[in-house]
Amino acid sequence: MNWADRYRRTQDESPEVPATPEAAERSLLEGNARFIKETVPNLPAPSTVPSADPAALSSVPVVPAAKQAPFCVVLGCSDARVPAELVFDAKPNQLFVVRVAGNVLGEECLGSIDYALHSFKDSVHLLVVLGHTRCGAVAAAVDAYLSPNLHNSIAFTRSLRSIVNHVLIAVRSAAVSLEEFWGARVVSDPGYRDALIEVSVYLNAGMTAHHLQEEMKPNEAIGTKVVYGVFDLDTCRVIGPDLNPQTDDTSKLADAPNHPDELIALGQQIAGSPMAARHLSEDYRKAHYPSRNIE
Ligand SMILES: [Zn+2]
Repeated sequence: MNWADRYRRTQDESPEVPATPEAAERSLLEGNARFIKETVPNLPAPSTVPSADPAALSSVPVVPAAKQAPFCVVLGCSDARVPAELVFDAKPNQLFVVRVAGNVLGEECLGSIDYALHSFKDSVHLLVVLGHTRCGAVAAAVDAYLSPNLHNSIAFTRSLRSIVNHVLIAVRSAAVSLEEFWGARVVSDPGYRDALIEVSVYLNAGMTAHHLQEEMKPNEAIGTKVVYGVFDLDTCRVIGPDLNPQTDDTSKLADAPNHPDELIALGQQIAGSPMAARHLSEDYRKAHYPSRNIE
């Protein structure tokens, strides 16, 4: 099964969308049948195994499941376009993946990561926080920040508010960084909202990585390093804050910030990077940063 080819195919042509719950269920079960055919080719078809016949059941070849031994824990967003196993071209049993909208660090996520770090400490060497461009959860938090009077309609349930509120910390910090770098008038630029989303995506991933490192200290406890990155939906690159996805050709994961001061510096770095600047209007960029050649 070539996952990378499958991912590219879904970019070129939209996958078929089942029109009803029944069709959706059928699509999943047919997919599982194809999966079984490929991964357990010797498994008899269900119709050949009488369910109540113990003798027939014992003739079914049993392939013992491998011991769970991921080398990496990934905290990523639930966005359907960013499946961690596919974008890292990883095989089953290589990644322990926790996905939640906005890759926010709630109690259950923290518990899942804690479980993985301690249960698989012999195999886990890396903990990755993976944000992504055009993140809907981050966009919702940015809209709630820009229009506080709409906060309740954007995050219209308590549970949604909990995600938005998690991301708001990064958004506030991103807004301060953008204003410090580009001047207070940046908030009036037509591209400000998109730039704020971009900077917030990075800061949200960086802050989460920092908090994971602070709360769990996995490096000291079991030698697991904490890193973060942002998957760019347009180029499919995992980009660190110092990379331009349009000109740099190597994906990169950055080390988790060690100190709150590093988060402030990170905000400044991202606010002034091509990733953020490309969203601002050309006139604004030229007027406020004439020496910088940003396309
Ligand atoms: Zn997202």
